[in-house]
Amino acid sequence: MKNPEAQQDVSVSQGIRMMFYVMKPSETSFQTLEEVPDYVRKATPFFISLMLLELVVSWIRKGKPSGGLDDALASLSAGIMSRLPRLFSRSIELTSYVYIWENYRLISLPWDSPWTWYLTFLGVDFGYYWFHRMAHEVNIMWAGHQTHHSSEGYNLSTALRQSVLQIYTSWIFYSPLALFIPPSVYAVHLQFNLLYQFWIHTEVIDNLGPLELILNTPSHHRVHHGRNRYCIDRNFAGTLIIWDRIFGTFEAENEKVVYGLTHPINTFEPFKVQFHHLVNIWTTFWATPGFFNKFSVIFKGPGWSPGKPRLGLIEEIPEVEGKEIPFSSSASQLLKIYVLVQFALMLAFYEETFADKAVLSQVTLLLRVCFIILTLTSIGFLLDQRRKAAVLETFRCLVFLMLCRSGHLKPCLSSSSFAFEQS
Ligand SMILES: [Zn+2]
Ligand SMILES: [Zn+2]
Repeated sequence: MKNPEAQQDVSVSQGIRMMFYVMKPSETSFQTLEEVPDYVRKATPFFISLMLLELVVSWIRKGKPSGGLDDALASLSAGIMSRLPRLFSRSIELTSYVYIWENYRLISLPWDSPWTWYLTFLGVDFGYYWFHRMAHEVNIMWAGHQTHHSSEGYNLSTALRQSVLQIYTSWIFYSPLALFIPPSVYAVHLQFNLLYQFWIHTEVIDNLGPLELILNTPSHHRVHHGRNRYCIDRNFAGTLIIWDRIFGTFEAENEKVVYGLTHPINTFEPFKVQFHHLVNIWTTFWATPGFFNKFSVIFKGPGWSPGKPRLGLIEEIPEVEGKEIPFSSSASQLLKIYVLVQFALMLAFYEETFADKAVLSQVTLLLRVCFIILTLTSIGFLLDQRRKAAVLETFRCLVFLMLCRSGHLKPCLSSSSFAFEQS
């Protein structure tokens, strides 16, 4: 089963199945962490293909796309920003796990046993449930996770709207597994658990009958993304909905779900999408009197304030009517096409940078990351129609030319391979 070529070994069949967690232990068990494929990176063409499929199905069924281009680009921008730190180091979810495994493990379950595989599947999903629940119930954790909920649409692109900060708290909830489960098995399930949650972000699948009893489904997760009062703090599941049923946080979809934050942020700027709630916590922290109250601002629910229960009052959640219109960009169609082209070019650089990271110098890596962040920011400014957007975009184009001249960026797309790297 040990396979030194594992990093290249994800077939098209496996690629499709991994998006739904339909994998066999025998094909996804590895002895060492280094052999575990980067399934999430190899999923890019499947993300794109499924998003295009959703677009087509939505056109056929409803005569309109499944969401706005502005919202989708903001979601993809967040996804890209959340992955950039991995260009420089292994994720903290793996680093901390390996440290605990090497120093404090109690027993070593066999890495090649199907029983270890199934136990890890359950363990990671259970850890995810509690991480996710705390990410909604603890304000400082919500500062990261709110990014994922900031879209007022609901389609496959929403799944990619990921937080830069969230990983710095999620690792805690998986660490008990490091006492007995090998890192290579954990690293496989951590990725599949994330990938499984991609396809459930859609409105084109209504109800899946008996599967709704066990699995987290599009219907269950739509409730999770709702800002209707009945949706708040419900359905925290990753793969199995059983955890919500067991711990009393399950809610079935009934009235029309209105998506997004209870107080919409009305922006497509990536830094605001990622960090605006941290600023809220900072100002609330200093405005709240008393040491214990300040402590509570950080560690109680986002809706808490002095005199209220830990998770705030549900009657303070703004009521929804079902007719709310999602925030959208006022940019012209021509500007949106320009933005889309710039985003596609940047995505090619992004994929190429990940593919070549082992051979690129740290300086080139750093400059490319800065250029990617600059591009995402400029796209946000253009979509938001900010006054400084034209200045920023001109500056970005100059930076692009300078990076090309100095050899840190390639001016032409030599990376048509990005969409088919695993075939
Ligand atoms: Zn959530
Ligand atoms: Zn979600």
